Amino acid sequence: MKILVTGGAGYIGSITAAELIAAGHKVVVLDNLYQGHIQAVPPEAAFVQVDLADREALAGVFAAHPDIDGIMHFASYTLVGESMERPLLYLRDNLVNAANLLEYAVAAGVRRFVLSSTANLFDEPERMPIEPDNKIVPGSPYGESKFFIERMLHWFERIYGLRYACLRYFNASGDTPGRGEHHDPETHLIPLVLQVALGQRSHITVFGDDYPTPDGTCVRDYVHVLDLAQAHILAMEALDRLGSRKYNLGNGNGFSVMQVIETARKITGHPIPHVIGPRRPGDPAILIASSESIRSELGWKPRYPDLESIISSAWEWHRSHPHGYAE
Ligand code: UDP
Repeated sequence: MKILVTGGAGYIGSITAAELIAAGHKVVVLDNLYQGHIQAVPPEAAFVQVDLADREALAGVFAAHPDIDGIMHFASYTLVGESMERPLLYLRDNLVNAANLLEYAVAAGVRRFVLSSTANLFDEPERMPIEPDNKIVPGSPYGESKFFIERMLHWFERIYGLRYACLRYFNASGDTPGRGEHHDPETHLIPLVLQVALGQRSHITVFGDDYPTPDGTCVRDYVHVLDLAQAHILAMEALDRLGSRKYNLGNGNGFSVMQVIETARKITGHPIPHVIGPRRPGDPAILIASSESIRSELGWKPRYPDLESIISSAWEWHRSHPHGYAE
């Protein structure tokens, strides 16, 4: 298939683009390079530097590539914390950009769409682990923006027959030898902890130790980016056979912030000092996914299910790319 990967210069998008190519698909990467890195785009992919807000440029992408079989939509603002401070980036820009993309996609006859969605849809989980049919209560403007896009897809299926998969992933993490996580500023726990181990920061601040969890720090389900990439490919390939789907993606194991720090101490051999800070707005205490439906329907099986292999792969990337793509 020929797949348009929006956000394909970003962390998860670029690694998925590379995996798509390795699986024999053709890839067009669309990215505005606002947060993405041109060095991350696989050389075999066609690349267009386009902002999804630019409708004319978007029309040009579909005119230049009239044979796109499916879209994987990663391009968006993605930070819970930022969305609590700058909600319109999320409630306006994420929505408008997705609407523009969908408008041109259906006009060009695209039939398949895989959305990079989020665990932040589940702020008040009824059960743990969280099933895809759990009641949706977005935890932040970021989660709300993804929920809205999921609803747009619902209507685009009914009205235009677009088949879609929503992949709500929990904590994307880990790296590959050639591509990895590089955000500026970095806000995610694992890369920040590894920056301390590299001597780039003096300590890590733990956001709250008074949550109702075993050690008081937040519990998350860390899932390796290569396992996420695999899930995107399986979901895209299965759309014709199974129809539209919503899947939660995680390992089904929760690890606390302190467990992440302790595992990183073991792997890096660095003491990684930490201090306890206040809670970060928008953070639920525990998020653990039930990925049962994607496992049984698509045969998805994480290859990096444990924290050690996730953090080891991240440490390899950060050690060999101490400044990410900026060298
Ligand atoms: N976290 C932390 N200190 C940091 C960054 C993150 O304690 O400097 C915590 C955060 O509160 C959350 C967990 O680590 O409980 C994972 O956060 P991250 O930003 O990596 O991913 P998110 O859960 O927001 O998707």
